[in-house]
Amino acid sequence: MERLDGRTLSILRREQLRERVQQCHSQTQIAPCLAVVLVGDDPASHVYVRNKIKSCSEVGVKSLEKRLPARVSQAQLIQEVQELNANSDIHAILVQLPLPEGLNSEEVLSQISPLKDADGLVPENLGLLLGDNKRVAPCTPAGVIELLKAHGIPMNGAHAVVVGRSQIVGKPMALLLLAENATVTVCHSQTKDLANHTRQADIVVVAAGRPEFLGKEHFKQGSVVVDVGIHRKANGKLCGDVNSQGLESWLKALSPVPGGVGPMTITMLLENTLMLAELQRGQG
Ligand code: NAD
Repeated sequence: MERLDGRTLSILRREQLRERVQQCHSQTQIAPCLAVVLVGDDPASHVYVRNKIKSCSEVGVKSLEKRLPARVSQAQLIQEVQELNANSDIHAILVQLPLPEGLNSEEVLSQISPLKDADGLVPENLGLLLGDNKRVAPCTPAGVIELLKAHGIPMNGAHAVVVGRSQIVGKPMALLLLAENATVTVCHSQTKDLANHTRQADIVVVAAGRPEFLGKEHFKQGSVVVDVGIHRKANGKLCGDVNSQGLESWLKALSPVPGGVGPMTITMLLENTLMLAELQRGQG
C-alpha cells in the first residue's frame, strides 16, 4: 500500500512557495500578509492557529493574529473583520472555526471580503466553485486534490465517495472531485448502508469526524482512501476517521494521520494567501 504522504509534499510545495513570496516582494514590494482571527479559549483552535502562524513565517508570509475574548459580541466581531477588510496591508483573512457558542459563524464569514477569503468559505467563493471560474477553494478539500494528483491517482472517470457533507470539507470536496471528472457520491449521517456505497468506490474521502469509524469492511480491495479526520485519543496519540488495521495489503493507497491531509491544509492556506495578494495587485 502506498502512503499518500502530505508531509513530504508540503515541504516541497512550501519551498516553491517561499521562492514565489520572495519574488512577489522583490518585484512589487508587497509582503503577502494573512490575518487570523481567534475568538475564545478553545485549546485545539489555539494549537491550529499557532501552527498556521508558524507556517506563514517559514515561507516568508507575514501574519497578524487578532485575539478576541469568547464574550465578544457578534457586532464587535463583524467590525473587526470589516477593519481587516479595509486594511490594505492585509491580503487574506481567516476566522478560526468553530466560534464560541452564541456567535453566528455563517454571518461572520459572509462579512469577509471575497478577495481576502483565505479559507474559501465566503458565499461568493463557494458559489464560484459551482461554476468554471473557481477563485479560491477551501483549504482541506483543495489539499486532498493536490495530494491525489501528486501521487498520480487517476480521478477522471473514477467513482469517488465522500463521507461527510460539511460546508468546510464534504460539500466542496464533492465539487472539486466533480471538476476532476470523477463520478461523485456524497454520504452523510442519514445515509442508509454506508458500506454499500463506500465499497463501490475507487476513491473514498472520509470526513465524518468520528474516530476510526471506517475499516477494511468499508473499502473495495485496491481502492484509494483519504482520511481527513483528526482526533486525539485518550493515550494522547492522534488518529483519523479510518481504522488502518488490515489495510496495508488491502488498499492501493491511504493517507496517514498525522502526516496526510493536515499539512496539505496549511500549505493550501499559504498558497491561497499568496494568490489573493497577487489578485489584489491585479496580477492574479
Ligand atoms: P463535521 O462534524 O462538520 O461534519 C461531519 C460530517 O460527517 C457530517 O456531514 C455528517 O453528516 C457526516 N457523518 C457523521 N456521522 C456519519 C455517519 N455515521 N455516516 C456517514 N456520515 C456521517 O466535520 P468536518 O468539519 O467536516 O470535519 C470532519 C473531520 O475532519 C473531523 O475529524 C475534523 O477534525 C477533520 N478535519 C481535519 C482537517 C485537517 O486539516 N486535517 C480540516 C478540517 C477538518
